[in-house]
Amino acid sequence: MKAVRFHKHGGIEELKYEDVDEPVAGPGEIVVRVKACAINHLDLWERVGLPGVRIPLPHISGSDVSGIVESIGPGVENIRPGSATLLYPGLSCMHCPACFEGHDNLCRRYTILGLLTDGGYAEFVKVPAVNALPFPEGLSFTGAAALPLVFLTAWHMLVTRCAIKAGEDVLILGAGSGVGSAAVQIAKFFRARVIATAGSAAKLEKARELGADFVIDHSRRSIRDEVWRFTHHRGVDVVFEHIGSATWQDSFASLAYHGRLVTCGATTGHDASIDIRQLFAKQISIFGSYMGPRHELLEVLRLVQKGYLRPVVSAVLPLEEAGRAQQMVENREHFGKIVLAVA
Ligand SMILES: [Zn+2]
Repeated sequence: MKAVRFHKHGGIEELKYEDVDEPVAGPGEIVVRVKACAINHLDLWERVGLPGVRIPLPHISGSDVSGIVESIGPGVENIRPGSATLLYPGLSCMHCPACFEGHDNLCRRYTILGLLTDGGYAEFVKVPAVNALPFPEGLSFTGAAALPLVFLTAWHMLVTRCAIKAGEDVLILGAGSGVGSAAVQIAKFFRARVIATAGSAAKLEKARELGADFVIDHSRRSIRDEVWRFTHHRGVDVVFEHIGSATWQDSFASLAYHGRLVTCGATTGHDASIDIRQLFAKQISIFGSYMGPRHELLEVLRLVQKGYLRPVVSAVLPLEEAGRAQQMVENREHFGKIVLAVA
């Protein structure tokens, strides 16, 4: 089969479109013919190399996959070859207390499809049969592939971790990113008032189209000053963080009394400081969040099918242009998701 792999960590030039042996489904596994695979920032980290994470080389990235079941391994009875599927990207042991309690993203063996295993930048991908969700009706393969990772992450952050409530003010950083564009929609679904940041007028316009009530061009204005102005010096109830060092001080300073800050990433760096006096005096909560349990993806898909949430696809490129797709993510040229279409 054709796949895009890297044999060593490095720049975009390390991504090679090449012939690779097709995966074979073992017991309890299926092989899916990939129709579409979305790009995530995680893919770029994998290529560059993640400190403390040994990624098997050569490696095929790709966590968000939609496609057609090609073959099933021994013991798989409830899935038929030929059926369309959307893959749940979380891989866990399915046996520990966390998995049994429905918190598989807290499993000690939790990982993401395409991180330590080969993923969807390929014509075929092998996954545990339990990861195959019925294909959400009414969506295209590219639209479906744009959903899982970012919507699951944003849902878990806002709904599960922060318990977002109607009427709250929510600051969403980087609304042009995949996770940011999902967060704007989820916050609006819960009738929050959304302040969104982005780095260009075009992206701010798109954030407004998704429902943002107030937008901040973070390349030209101070986030905290604009939040202060919009909220009449009250601050926001929730800050949705994934940028890291570059925005942390602004994020923390934008919180109202009893505010919650939730983060799922540190794209610009992972060093930050906190004024502990502000933390206790303003009774602030800080939440870490990583992906979300499998049942939360089903909740998201139900809302997508009813039209309350929608995938935001910025561009669709062929598999062989995975390098250009990653370059677009690195250059922040996109609004929403960039998806690879696989023949
Ligand atoms: Zn487990």
